[in-house]
Amino acid sequence: MPGAGPEFRVIDPATGETHSTIRASTQEQVSEAAEAAQRAGESWGALSQPERSGALHAVADGIRAREGLLAEALTHETGRPLSRNHLYVDMAVDVFHMYAELSRALGGRVAPSNDPGQLSLVLRAPHGAIGCLIPWNYPLLLLVFKVAPALATGNTVVIKPASETPLSLAVLSEVFAETLPRGVVNTVLGSGRTVGEGLVTDPRIDMIAFTGSTEVGRRLGVLCAELTKPAHLELGGKDPAIVFEDADPHVAAEGVAWASFLNAGQVCTSTERVYVAAPIYDRFVEEVVAVTESIRVGDPFDQTTQLGPMRSEGRRRKVLGEIEAAVSAGARVVAGGAPLDRPGFFMTPTVVVDVNHEMGLMSEETFGPVLPIMAFSSEDEAFGLAADTPYGLGASLYTNTPRLVERAYRELNVGTVWVNDPVVDNLAAPFGGNRASGNARELGVEALESFTTARHVHWNLELEPKPWWYRGE
Ligand code: NAP
Ligand code: MG
Repeated sequence: MPGAGPEFRVIDPATGETHSTIRASTQEQVSEAAEAAQRAGESWGALSQPERSGALHAVADGIRAREGLLAEALTHETGRPLSRNHLYVDMAVDVFHMYAELSRALGGRVAPSNDPGQLSLVLRAPHGAIGCLIPWNYPLLLLVFKVAPALATGNTVVIKPASETPLSLAVLSEVFAETLPRGVVNTVLGSGRTVGEGLVTDPRIDMIAFTGSTEVGRRLGVLCAELTKPAHLELGGKDPAIVFEDADPHVAAEGVAWASFLNAGQVCTSTERVYVAAPIYDRFVEEVVAVTESIRVGDPFDQTTQLGPMRSEGRRRKVLGEIEAAVSAGARVVAGGAPLDRPGFFMTPTVVVDVNHEMGLMSEETFGPVLPIMAFSSEDEAFGLAADTPYGLGASLYTNTPRLVERAYRELNVGTVWVNDPVVDNLAAPFGGNRASGNARELGVEALESFTTARHVHWNLELEPKPWWYRGE
């Protein structure tokens, strides 16, 4: 539904210019969307699973049919190279097909009964109408990670995209309108503080699924706690990478650079701090500088571009400020570190050394193309440094020593440990974080659990008097 509220502008980060002007939703439209979702839930939840699965396969086919339009919209709104956006459209198609089928196999269980003549059925039921709040860094992927499993399990949704990135959702909404009954997927537009909070606190919204910053996630967690509403929170990170002595420094440098600079470092699971074994430290730094300086930064519509701009001027300024603060505390920039002299919000991918955990660059989420490196001299020191953070999203290791992998998944309180293949999503496995990184799991069969609640049916097969019941004379 077109918004009837105030206008806001969508800026293309590669040009710095206005791409389009859109109207936000009013609070009344937010209420209408919540009501529509609640109403549609009755019939959507009552469909047979094969019928619902069929509709989700149709959504996947609709996304495929609009691949070009979606990839272009994503490139305009995120600044990410077009070729990568095609990959993300592929993944979105895959996610809908996967949940269409996985949900067919979603079963409950029969729990042991108290007594003979009884059945205890444990069923998975939808939560109802789910408010989905999406960030600007992966507007399509992070949306389908929530919406596909939510719909597959019989929920309906109201989506609020980030104000900076509503373009791909406009295309996706055409697919939903063609393939799903009215009211199953609804969209509201506008700022988080007004439209977003209006959605979160609407009494017809039964659950919140939020991906975004830790700061906003905590606030929404408090609002939801007051309303006893489940809040599924995917928040920020400060992921470490550890390069052990047995790793080939050249190969590891390529992996680390990829994991730090993908999407201009604006990935929740970006490698944000790197610890390298002292004996290979110098060689690693040399290699990573060479890889970094070879990266082609530029127009995201150019097929040869590897790295686009940051999403906004404000975020670029924040990242450059963090680098400057580290340098004034003794750090050294050994590659990049500057804005590009052209329109748009480009900056060169940056490598920083001589850093420590007192610096914001090593302790706060940077969310930019910056790769700060420290040396370590023992395994204990490496694991201690990696664990020295309030976040718990992911960690990556570069090693061929199984013992180190076992130690990492035992000691690091994170949702994902990547070994020799960083920042790769496997749709079949759960994704999410702990502590300041949130409480949720998306993807895998785990998402089917996240978007359902257990319902118990305690069934005495015959009506018969129980010895403990009150007995009338
Ligand atoms: P954000 O400011 O927290 O915003 C995320 C979404 O919530 C946007 O749609 C935003 O709308 C909305 N929002 C903002 N304030 C709100 C409020 N008070 N009530 C309701 N909704 C509100 O996050 P961001 O800066 O866009 O995204 C970057 C962050 O997301 C990083 O910290 C990153 O690590 C995290 N992230 C986490 C994951 C994960 O899976 N764990 C994945 C990707 C990103 P407006 O922008 O329109 O105001
Ligand atoms: Mg924000």
